Amino acid sequence: MSASRTQVGIIGSGPSGLLLSQLLQLAGIDSVVLERRSRDYVLGRVRAGVLEQGTVAILRRAGVAERLDREGLVHHGVEIAAGEERRRVDFSAHAASVTVYGQTELTKDLMHARDALGGTLLFEVDEVALEGVESERPALRYRRAGVEHRLECEFIAGCDGFHGASRKAIPPNVLKIHERVYPFGWLGVLAEVPPVSPELVYASHERGFALCSMRSLVRSRCYVQCALDDDVAAWSDDRFWDELRARLPEAAAARLQTGRSLEKSIAPLRSFVAEPLRYGRLFLAGDAAHIVPPTGAKGLNLAVRDVQQLADALIAHYSEGQDDLLDAYSATALRRIWRAERFSAWLTSVLHKFPGRTSFDRGIQLAELDELASSAAAQAAFVESYTGTPL
Ligand SMILES: Cc1cc2nc3c(=O)[nH]c(=O)nc-3n(C[C@H](O)[C@H](O)[C@H](O)COP(=O)(O)OP(=O)(O)OC[C@H]3O[C@@H](n4cnc5c(N)ncnc54)[C@H](O)[C@@H]3O)c2cc1C
Repeated sequence: MSASRTQVGIIGSGPSGLLLSQLLQLAGIDSVVLERRSRDYVLGRVRAGVLEQGTVAILRRAGVAERLDREGLVHHGVEIAAGEERRRVDFSAHAASVTVYGQTELTKDLMHARDALGGTLLFEVDEVALEGVESERPALRYRRAGVEHRLECEFIAGCDGFHGASRKAIPPNVLKIHERVYPFGWLGVLAEVPPVSPELVYASHERGFALCSMRSLVRSRCYVQCALDDDVAAWSDDRFWDELRARLPEAAAARLQTGRSLEKSIAPLRSFVAEPLRYGRLFLAGDAAHIVPPTGAKGLNLAVRDVQQLADALIAHYSEGQDDLLDAYSATALRRIWRAERFSAWLTSVLHKFPGRTSFDRGIQLAELDELASSAAAQAAFVESYTGTPL
């Protein structure tokens, strides 16, 4: 078995793990990232795409926003449709905006920055196991290319997503799980066609929810609500575009350009919070700690905020010997996470067709959307939650 040491052992090279290692290295703190998948697999994953202003600021601080600043699309509003009714929520009245920039591109930028600084990223690592997280010297055991390794750490960051190993290292009598699983999924298609509208269009329709999003001015990312047991193979491109068209207001449907899908997948929807986010010298961040349904575009933004908070706490520990931020990490992060969970669950409940929905339930959904369209207070609350900009 080979043995090595680092200050912070990071499990997972998604946005959380890559960004944490970058922020730590900029502060002179050593880390090693262990990733189960191959580099190409991680670089090829298609996921989120809407960044809050605060997220962009953190990425600038990490020195990975040069291309984002050049190519990201800044949006000052979003459209919400219910049947034929279309309402635009304007962010600019509140000096707020979001930036559309694909997680795939962000991952490339982070990986490039880690390589440029000589960061240690180990891919195709198997059987990662956490040891002694309650002790001063926790360790990560893993297997790579058939060889067993032991990495001694001072801290471990669990950035390994929902299905990772780190959360499971918290004993069941300590770990509390709060969860809601939704009875539907999102079928997503990525295609090289211009977006239907310059801003995102969320549609609440009798046939189910739909979203027209984008990754650039020539690349669309669109979704329709589907059954949980739906099979991607049963959705030809034509069937997908027909269903999307049927759920959009006529004017938007008339503008819809269709094309061959570059990627097509079904994602289940879940709300999930783990508590606490710290156990001994193990800290959870990103999807390892929480999941939101993608309706509010919060998943990646929450992950980036967790990482900023954890990086600042570790920097205070190493540079000033101060542990108050580490001690406060779990409680402070959970307060912020629950607010995003509330918003994401609310927006999901207002826009989707739930099985067994009654005409009364639909009336309440339409009243919620009506209030959003007509009440300045409701709009301000929406803008604050959606853009993450404190008003
Ligand atoms: C299919 C899908 C679609 C999504 N769409 C949206 C969206 O439209 N909008 C939105 O806001 N959010 C979306 N999200 C959420 C968003 O992508 C996540 O919040 C974000 O990726 C979180 O980053 P992370 O680094 O915490 O976790 P992840 O990106 O999941 O990264 C975790 C990493 O850990 C690795 N790993 C896991 N287990 C181990 C192990 N045992 N050992 C070593 N490595 C391990 C994984 O391979 C992965 O690379 C989506 C998520 C998924 C899964």
